[in-house]
Amino acid sequence: MDTICVLMTCPMSTYLEDELNKRFKLFRFWEFPKQKDFLKENSNSIRAIVGNATAGADAEMINSLPKLEIISSYSVGLDKIDLARCKEKGIRVTNTPDVLTEDVADLAIGLILATLRKICECDRSGHFYTDGNRKLGKNLLVLWRMIMEFSGKKVGIVGLGRIGLAIAKRAEAFGCPISYYSRSEKPDSNYKYYSNIVDLAANCQILVVACPLTEETRHIINREVIDVLGPKGVVINIGRGPHIDEPELVSALVEGRLGGAGLDVFEHEPEVPEQLFGLDNVVLLPHVGSGTVETRNAMADLVIGNLEAHFLTKPLLTPVV
Ligand code: NAP
Repeated sequence: MDTICVLMTCPMSTYLEDELNKRFKLFRFWEFPKQKDFLKENSNSIRAIVGNATAGADAEMINSLPKLEIISSYSVGLDKIDLARCKEKGIRVTNTPDVLTEDVADLAIGLILATLRKICECDRSGHFYTDGNRKLGKNLLVLWRMIMEFSGKKVGIVGLGRIGLAIAKRAEAFGCPISYYSRSEKPDSNYKYYSNIVDLAANCQILVVACPLTEETRHIINREVIDVLGPKGVVINIGRGPHIDEPELVSALVEGRLGGAGLDVFEHEPEVPEQLFGLDNVVLLPHVGSGTVETRNAMADLVIGNLEAHFLTKPLLTPVV
């Protein structure tokens, strides 16, 4: 297989890069300053693309590679890949479901706790006085007016899929009543179903976004949803940045119309709205939902497993198209 040309779209994991390099003829797209020229020069040799949630394959890239057979994505979300074009051209697409579910759900709970309990603000800021009385510091006394309880709060989940369900199970252990919104009611679930997101937001205190990014779900968290959630409500986003109308979110947080937000993803990442940095009712993470060594390596193995299966004409491990 070492003559098969594979294009990796951006740096993802050194383990993945090394393992691809051992098996295939690997091209690191980011190493070519003139990427359009690179695509022209290699249009008749690239047979596979490895993309991720940051850099996938749009129609232009797909069209410029006539020998492309497969896109193996180092992500479960496929919003950066033109799936319609792949279907049209018979290009196979795979992703990395399941292996990252638990980590992303763990991080969602971490974001909820950090946002409500102000863990980041408390960390090293509200020191104990050392005058022998061990009183709490002034900062912490101020923070205490803003710290909120998690246990027992009503949690609403947008998208009760693999990750949404794993978040629900965790939140249940905190005594939280769970409800959800998806396009369809899940027959195996006892959680309360709402057939529209505004009703879900009106009936929960913590709204967690865990659905795929599609044209339907772009800005699914809009002004109406934010207003219904209200000044005591919190939004947690571990889906994709464009799920939220970010300017609306920022103004609601600044004006106190929304209680808080825990965000792993941003509408124009890696750009983060400047105003968010000045707020103490937000927790901001750099898209690290699946970012543990164990899971990243398992994702890499799945990416490679899919490529190998394809080129050995065996069934793909996790096919999408
Ligand atoms: P999944 O198992 O396919 O679940 C997706 C859920 O969303 C399903 O319950 C689906 O139910 C629902 N859904 C789909 N379209 C919807 C719509 N228009 N409105 C409301 N609900 C909708 O996917 P998953 O593995 O849980 O992953 C979910 C997403 O998490 C991924 O697509 C990815 O974008 C994101 N993610 C983020 C990170 C991170 O690092 N932050 C890591 C991994 C994944 P219905 O079909 O009934 O609507």
